[in-house]
This record gives sequence, C-alpha cells and structure tokens, in this order.
Amino acid sequence: MITVTILGSTGSIGMSTLDVIEGQGERFKVVALTANTNVDRLFEQCIKFQPTFAVMVDRNSANELRRRLLDTKAKTEVLAGSQAVIDIAQNDDSDCVVAAIVGAAGLLPTLSATQAGKRVLLANKEALVMSGELFIDVAINSGATLLPLDSEHNAIFQCMPEGYFCGVQPPGVHRLILTSSGGPFRDTPLSKLGSVTPEQACAHPNWSMGKKISVDSATMMNKGLEVIEAHWLFHVPAAHIEAVLHPQSIVHSMVDYVDGSMLAQMGVPDMRTPIAQALAWPERIASGVNNLDLIKMSPLEFMPISEQRYPCFRLAHAVLDAGGTAPAILNAANEVAVDAFLKELIGFQDIYKVIASVLDNAIVKSADDLSAILEADSWARNEATLLLA
Ligand code: NAD
Ligand code: MG
Repeated sequence: MITVTILGSTGSIGMSTLDVIEGQGERFKVVALTANTNVDRLFEQCIKFQPTFAVMVDRNSANELRRRLLDTKAKTEVLAGSQAVIDIAQNDDSDCVVAAIVGAAGLLPTLSATQAGKRVLLANKEALVMSGELFIDVAINSGATLLPLDSEHNAIFQCMPEGYFCGVQPPGVHRLILTSSGGPFRDTPLSKLGSVTPEQACAHPNWSMGKKISVDSATMMNKGLEVIEAHWLFHVPAAHIEAVLHPQSIVHSMVDYVDGSMLAQMGVPDMRTPIAQALAWPERIASGVNNLDLIKMSPLEFMPISEQRYPCFRLAHAVLDAGGTAPAILNAANEVAVDAFLKELIGFQDIYKVIASVLDNAIVKSADDLSAILEADSWARNEATLLLA
C-alpha cells in the first residue's frame, strides 16, 4: 500500500488525484490532506478518505472543520496554520507527497517534503520556478524522487531513457519541445484582447484547471514558467528547450534525441493520466481517462508561438537567462497581476505591463539561499501592488 499526503487537496489537481486514488481500492492510503479555506470540500474529502490529518491554513476554517467532524465518525485530527502544512509535508506516515498548492504559497511545504526525501509529485511549478537550483540540490541531497505532474513535464519524463531521474542531465537529448494549446485567446483579434473578461480567460478550450493557471495559459506565462520548470527538472539548457502551439492538446510534449528520433507522449487531455503515471511509477494503473481514438481524433497541428500575441512568454525566457532571483520576481509580480485581473482591477494586457515594470525596477541577486528568494518574492509583490494603486 502506498501512503499519500496531498498538499492542496481541494484544488483541481488535488481532486483529480483523489479521483485516481478512489478508483484504485486499497492500493493507496490517504494520510493527510491540506487546504487553504474550503471547509465544505475538505469536510467531504475527510468523510470519504478518512485521512489521519487534515490541515487548514486559515484558523477559523480549521475550527469550523473540527466542529463539523465532531458530529461524524471520522477520526481525522484537524491542524491549523501555514507551519502545520509545512510540518505535515514531512510526516513519517506517508511515502508520497502530492505538491498541488497553487503559487508561491506552495514553496515551503513542497521544499519541506523534498527535504524529507519523499516521493514528491510536483504540480506546484511556481515553487520550482522560484527556487530552481536550490530546490534541485535539496532533492538530490535528500534522495527525494521528483516526479512531474505538469502534463508537459510528465510527458517528457515518460520519453526519457529508462532509469532516468529528474534533476540530472539525460544522455543523448538534443532538445525538449513543450506543447501549448494557445489558450482561449489563440484566435482572438489582438485589438479585442484589451476587453476580455476573467470568465473568458478561465474558459480553457481543452483543460479544466484552477483560475490562476487558466489565466497563465491565456497569457502564455504558463508556458514560460514551464520552460523554467523543464530547465531545472531535466537539466537541459534554455537554448535547447522550445515550445510550439498545438491546439489539439493531444501530444503533451516531446524529446528530440541526437540521432534524429523524436519521442512524444500522447493522450486525451486529462490530468488524471499524468497523476496516475506518477502515483504508480514505475508501474501503470488505470486513471479513469478514456484511451485515445486515433481514427476519430482531429488532425494534429503544430505552429510557432507569436511573441506579439503572448509577450509574457518572452519575459519568462528573459528571467531564466538573467538567473538568480529574477524568476522569483517574475513569479511574484505575475501572481499579483493575475489576482488583480481576476478581481477586475486591471485589464488582461495590463498583466504583462505590471510584470515588465516590476522586472525593470528589480535588482537581481544571487538565489543560493532561501531568504534571498523569499525577500525577492516579497519585494516584487510590494512593487506590483504599488503599481496597481
Ligand atoms: P487550484 O486553485 O484549483 O487549487 C489550489 C489548492 O491550493 C487548493 O487546495 C487551495 O486550498 C490551496 N491553496 C491556495 N492558497 C493556499 C495557501 N495560501 N496556502 C496553502 N494552500 C493554499 O489550483 P490547481 O489548478 O489545482 O493548481 C495547483 C498547482 O498545480 C499550480 O501550481 C498549477 O500551476 C499546477 N498545475 C495545475 C494543473 C491543472 O490542470 N489544474 C496542470 C498543471 C499544473
Ligand atoms: Mg502544463
């Protein structure tokens, strides 16, 4: 039996993970679940999966969950606060930790699980973008097994030579090619992008996801973060990582080898496939996802990414080249700008402007210790918030 802790269990990735686990009977045991404020959903999950621990960052939410569980037979112990999430990520009773918190809030809990040498299923790309080399060093030193959940990185991992472990350079690889659907505004006239709404931005054509990553997909910042994520996970230089538009989201990414072989992983766009692959690795289990029907599927297309339509993509490349705390600064500015867009305080195209201005004013420092990364994050949040005022 594989024991599992899910950080961010009430989100899109968290729920898909529990769906795969539920379909597997006794194979997995859920030890701990964590959430920010969603008491209703965490309560339902506690009843269904009977974890030993449930952790809520928000203390009032934790009190409410504790009170509601008292009226049931569930024996789940409820803990509260962000330190409790960091601590639970290291609990001795779980082998596997699913890192599915969104944004920089996931950095310390994800690092905590990695430091404890767990099998870490990484969805929380922002944590790796912020801390890059430091994160990979922690994983290598602790002996943690990093398994990517992001569909592109999971695809690349599946196309790697047998015995490959994340964080080291794979032999014989010429380039990595990430695919992107182009998001909901791929064909929207550029002149209309100024007036698109959060609702339209969150209506992704192929994937159903949390709001933040949906907006990131619409701006293409998501692909930019993924280039940085791929650089650290697979130890491949940025110049050998490319991205192409692939509107059908069937080919999830590719590895191009020096001998001219290009390996691709394909499947119906549903996160339960990469989640099942990583949960059971190196075995294979059913995920609940339908198998691909090649005859019924529409033709597969690949096209270049337009920098004019997606200026955020270029910013992500620039911060990877700059190194140090630049990616953490970009990530924080993006989180603030996306949040402001979702609250309708700024327009869609202002997201780019806010991030670019924050980067223009930034002093990039070395990112070899956690305090420098956290300081850069809070500086950039503050700077972005001032720009919004
Ligand atoms: P979501 O918004 O649906 O869920 C986020 C989860 O994080 C929730 O459980 C929430 O309670 C928790 N959370 C939010 N703020 C928190 C805080 N301050 N402290 C602790 N917990 C907090 O997000 P999602 O779409 O599931 O994405 C999660 C991560 O996975 C993101 O990093 C995203 O980029 C990545 N990812 C998601 C998908 C997808 O299909 N949804 C695909 C690839 C990668
Ligand atoms: Mg992805």
